[in-house]
Amino acid sequence: MTDRYAVIGNPIAHSRSPEIHAAFARQTGQDMCYERILSPLDGFAAAVDSFRAAGGRGMNVTLPFKLEAFAYSPRRTPRAEAAGAVNTLRFDDGSVLGDNTDGAGLAHDLTRNLGLRLSGARILLLGAGGAAQGVVLPLLEHRPACLVVANRTRDKAAAIASMFRDNGPVSGCGLAELTGRRFDVVVNATSAAIGGAAPEFCPDIFADGAFAYEMMYGKGETPFLSLARGAGAGGWADGLGMLVEQAAESFLLWRGVRPDTGPVLAMLRQA
Ligand code: NDP
Repeated sequence: MTDRYAVIGNPIAHSRSPEIHAAFARQTGQDMCYERILSPLDGFAAAVDSFRAAGGRGMNVTLPFKLEAFAYSPRRTPRAEAAGAVNTLRFDDGSVLGDNTDGAGLAHDLTRNLGLRLSGARILLLGAGGAAQGVVLPLLEHRPACLVVANRTRDKAAAIASMFRDNGPVSGCGLAELTGRRFDVVVNATSAAIGGAAPEFCPDIFADGAFAYEMMYGKGETPFLSLARGAGAGGWADGLGMLVEQAAESFLLWRGVRPDTGPVLAMLRQA
């Protein structure tokens, strides 16, 4: 019988995960199907229960349910525990395992697809929401010179930095406190682009040849990327590669095989 998987969120129509997992399944010869599920905002657990009851084997979880998915999972991987959020659920014979593949997805995209060296780099992470929290540990594992988390609401950045202070050189601050500092890699993990804006920070933060990464994808050149380009950044990318890489990590958790992401990313970029 074909194994069923799904992505659940609200809204969900924009999700490219079904295309990605269909391509992975073709490439690796797995007998599986993958659908979108729109969950009511107050009905996440019931929607997951009903998918499991219908024989579902696993789910990706997207906005705004990653924290609810964390609470839903009685067992969690260490990286899900560290992130405090779950984006991947695996259903095994009555039990549920929660994982978080976002951070590994970003680190893979930066280092393998984009060829960046994170070791020794000065990294700035803009934003302190669920996505930012999920990528701190995987970034620290690459041993940067420093990782600064900067957020519009300063306290949230400080809270994330204190959560991970034993894992590496991480600190938290408000956006205004960035003035006078320089970074080699700047990751925008805010959702400012949804409102057509960039987070408000001094553009001098980009070191010569710095790399600017917009975690959001599918929006073309966002205000943050334009600002980075104007400020002399040497390279930039959106989050499509992260999306494909986090999907590959989920696929590995479900099917035991990691697909080759290069051709799938190329296909999506072409589309
Ligand atoms: P959250 O809603 O949890 O956090 C949003 C963050 O953005 C907060 O830190 C918020 O600051 C900040 N923010 C929002 N608007 C502005 C603004 N105008 N100026 C400055 N800061 C702002 O979202 P997530 O963390 O879940 O997602 C963040 C982004 O990452 C989204 O765009 C999402 O699409 C993307 N993403 C991409 C993935 C991929 O695979 N490519 C995976 C996961 C996420 P404050 O705390 O002050 O409100």
